[in-house]
Formats: sequence, structure tokens, C-alpha cells
Amino acid sequence: MGTQRAVLARGLTKYFGDVVALDGVDLDLARGRIHGLVGPNGAGKTTLLGLLLGLAVTDGGSLEILGKRVGRMFAAPGGVAGFVDGPGLYPSLTARQNLAALAALSGKDTRTARTARIDQVLDEVGLTDVADDRARGFSLGMRQRLGLAAALLTTPRLLVLDEPANGLDPAGKKHVHGVLTRLANEGTTVVLSSHRMDDLEALCSEVTILASGRVRFSGPLSTLAGENGALDYRLLTSAPEAARRLAADTAGVRVVADAGAWRGAESLVVSALVPALDALVARLVRADIAVRELAPVVSPLEAAFLALTEQQEAAR
Ligand code: ADP
Repeated sequence: MGTQRAVLARGLTKYFGDVVALDGVDLDLARGRIHGLVGPNGAGKTTLLGLLLGLAVTDGGSLEILGKRVGRMFAAPGGVAGFVDGPGLYPSLTARQNLAALAALSGKDTRTARTARIDQVLDEVGLTDVADDRARGFSLGMRQRLGLAAALLTTPRLLVLDEPANGLDPAGKKHVHGVLTRLANEGTTVVLSSHRMDDLEALCSEVTILASGRVRFSGPLSTLAGENGALDYRLLTSAPEAARRLAADTAGVRVVADAGAWRGAESLVVSALVPALDALVARLVRADIAVRELAPVVSPLEAAFLALTEQQEAAR
């Protein structure tokens, strides 16, 4: 059902001269989710986000946004907001004036209502203290937050952000993550690209991995672990030596010898698929060995991303 989805794309293609930026991309984005877009440089992320924002038109395939078929005209579909390549701001205007100029363009609401809304979005992104400073003096992180505030003015149902965490300090990141999570809880779909796997893992329920204009994976983060093949896991137990012997004796589990020290001799690193890892944990518990920590050395998303990059380098 198209109406249940924020984005439904089939076979999207986009060329720049001889360069194939998107090569038959399918994308299904459910409403009210935060969806991450990952891929090496040149993968086609910005091109895809640009299509969602109506900044470019496709050369092939079909695209439906918020239940409406996108035609071949350059136009931001209704209900969509966001930015690629950094937000467009007037450097000589203050943060508040930038937002006032945008709000006035929409022509909606009274001046008083617009002022109240501007105060509200400035507060949401944590820029109240610098509301009357000129955007010219803003850091990259502050500009990103002002761009997000501008997008919030329109109460979007689909929010599209290219590297929104660029230049953000931890406090800025906390604001932005808080805003995006609240929006998604209220039903807005958020699509964002990022090179920061930890941010994506903290924020997104689903990811799409793009490489050379093609989708390599698209789905819940939780299913990525199963896609990767064996991953390395760090295991901290109450009886390290006994745990090591059990691990070495469990089918499908390999003890990684050169894993390096981490908390001295207490920890060990094993390489396994999820079912073999489950079997090892069950055996440890049966042997009265407590599992104190178990986590992938490299997260499933990062592992998938690294594997892709290595494949690409090998193909060059
Ligand atoms: P990403 O955002 O993943 O780094 P892009 O979408 O920017 O990737 O680019 C995908 C491919 O399309 C790259 O090979 C890039 O060089 C090319 N490309 C993107 N925009 C243009 C453009 N305006 N003109 C020519 N080539 C472009």
C-alpha cells in the first residue's frame, strides 16, 4: 500500500553524462521511521536524497513520495523538507531573521504565530542563546542545526538530511538526535545519510547501504548481523580459561588468537555466526560460567560497510 509508505521507489536511475549515479535503486520507507543511508564516497547517496527533495528528476524508474507519484518536474513534493550539501542560509542575517524570512515565504499563520513557532524550533535545536547572532559567524554544526530548525518550521512528514551530524559537538548531537527521535515518534519519516556508523546505530531502525549506485542491503539493522557472515565478538566471562576451552570446542566458533589484550587476560575474541555464538553462550551458562559482556568488536553495520569498501578496492 503506497499510502502506508513515505517513499516507494522502483528501479530509480540517474545519470550525469557517462556516470551512472543511481543504477536501478528500489527503496521502501515506512512512515514514522528513521532510515539511514550509508555508502562510500560516490555511492549515490546525495543524488538519491536530492531526488527525494525534488532537486533533480530521475532518468528512469518510478518514485512515489507520501503516497503521490513524483512527476518529471523539479519541485519539492508537499510535506517534504530538508537539505543536501549543507543548508541554504543568508549569512548576513541572524538565525532568527533567517527563519523569519523562510516562515514569511510560506505566507501561512499570523506574524505572532510565526514568531512563536520560530522561538520553539530554535529552542528544539538548542540555538536560543545565539538566535540574534549572524549566521556568518556560525560553525558548521550551528549551521546544520539552523538548517534543521528551518526544516522543522514546515512540520514535514518526510525529512531528508545529508550528513546532519557533520561538525556537531556532543551537545549539538544530543539536540539533533532528540529532535529526530521525537519527529519519528510523531509519525514523520526521517532519511539521513551519515558516515558515522555509531550515530546511525544509535538513531536508525533501518538502513540502506548503497555502493556504485546500487542497493547492497536495505532493511532493519537487526538483520544485518545475519548478512555479514561470521563476525568477531569480544567475550568477557567469570572464568576466562574455561571459557576459552569451551569456545575452542564449540562447532562454528573460532578463537581469534591475535585479538590483542583488552582488560588483560579476562577477555577473549571469538569469530562466529549468530547461531554458533548462541550455542556457545548456552554452553557457558550450563557450565556455570557467567557471561559479563558480549559485543561485536566491529558493529554489524561497520562490518558490512568495511566489507563493501574492501570489495570495491579489490575490484579496482
Ligand atoms: P555520495 O553522496 O554517495 O558521495 P553522489 O550522489 O554525490 O555520491 O555521487 C554519485 C556519483 O555521481 C559520483 O560518481 C559523482 O561524481 C556523480 N555526480 C554527482 N553529482 C554530479 C553532478 N552534478 N555532475 C556530475 N557528476 C555528478
